[in-house]
Amino acid sequence: MKVLFIHPRWPKIPEQTEFNLPPLGMIQAAACVPDGVEVAVLNENVEPVDLETDADVIALSTLLSCQAPRAYDLAHAFRRRGRTVIMGGLHPTLCPEEATGHVDALCVGEGEGLVEEMIKDFQAGRLQKIYRHPEGEFPDIRRLPDPRRDLYRKQELYAYKGWELPDLVQTSRGCRFNCPPCCVSFLGGRRHRIRPLDLVLRDLDRCGELVFFVDNSMEQSIKAQLELFEALRDYGFEKAGRKWISHPLTCRPDVLRAARDAGCWYVYHAIYTISDKIRDRIVMMHDHGIKVEGTILLGLDDHTEDFILRLIDFLLEIGLDLAEFTILTPFPQTQIRRQLESKGRILDRNWEAYNAAKVVFQPRHMSPERLQALYEQAWRSFYAERSQTVRMSELFMDVIKDSIRRRRTLLRSAKQEQEQTDEKGTGTTRKTTQA
Ligand code: SF4
Repeated sequence: MKVLFIHPRWPKIPEQTEFNLPPLGMIQAAACVPDGVEVAVLNENVEPVDLETDADVIALSTLLSCQAPRAYDLAHAFRRRGRTVIMGGLHPTLCPEEATGHVDALCVGEGEGLVEEMIKDFQAGRLQKIYRHPEGEFPDIRRLPDPRRDLYRKQELYAYKGWELPDLVQTSRGCRFNCPPCCVSFLGGRRHRIRPLDLVLRDLDRCGELVFFVDNSMEQSIKAQLELFEALRDYGFEKAGRKWISHPLTCRPDVLRAARDAGCWYVYHAIYTISDKIRDRIVMMHDHGIKVEGTILLGLDDHTEDFILRLIDFLLEIGLDLAEFTILTPFPQTQIRRQLESKGRILDRNWEAYNAAKVVFQPRHMSPERLQALYEQAWRSFYAERSQTVRMSELFMDVIKDSIRRRRTLLRSAKQEQEQTDEKGTGTTRKTTQA
């Protein structure tokens, strides 16, 4: 029996340099398939789907809302060919009633404990329509299986201009915050569930030189950050010339020092106000050798045209290394969607438009067209002098130079050690000969 996991393609943000990171969801789910079952993975963003595949079960890993229409099309195409289609991921967990109509079986919530049951039920001919954990319960993060990184053709499929792209790693799930545009607390719960460090390090053994810690928010625990960074330092992550990226870190000198010493390369930082506090945080991260990519959400209710124009100037002035502009998007199960819905301000319900690059709601202070134009202007203005490709290359050059420097140091010390060993050996030989 064979299960093929597919990550359906999705409409990218046109202004953004296109590169595809190896998705984590489907290799984490693939790790839950029972022994003895053949497993393969396919990311449609980097390779085509063969509808005539010999797989018995197609497992659609649907992360984003804008992936959903394509996932449903694939589901219908495979089911017409007699294949059994199951689905899981963030979007179907947010909208199970919608997703269930397109597939044979649906996994709602985190896959551990459910995927295995689905496959066993399929083998026994008793596949159910919906699989979910009891309300409020999540799989034990201390027992997560290692993601099946062996299933990717990493070097062939995941490179940007010859550079191997980061592997995605999770050190925790859940988020104790509950920000209005975010659905993480609905999906992963309000408790910060921390993965044991020995499991994280074991996972890192199988990753490449660059790693992206995709935790929802590391900032929610200073203790967890310091423990992770200390473990990474002892593991020798940075000494081996490896680097990592993450969502925001706590902006405190001790945390940033520990992060840098553990191999932190750059962090994403949400910027939604013009303030000295933001400016100081960027300066502090730069002072610790950590680069910053700003994530800027446009279209909040307090965003006027004038504010957005001033924000663009501010971003240029504070010396961000990269910026990613997105438009507020009312994803399912968020406070923002409920608020906009209650005021009749949702204009577009086609999930394909929910890639955070299109205005799908009525902004408070301007027309949808004007917000769209300001969003495009923000991308153009920020990258007017140095394109995004150039800025990204500069970012990578830093890592490459650093990596070469460290490798040289390692080679030099290995050579010195070898010479000392040879000298000792020669000394012993001489003594033996004299005796
Ligand atoms: S994941 Fe980030 S945006 Fe979402 S609730 Fe947590 S801190 Fe807020």
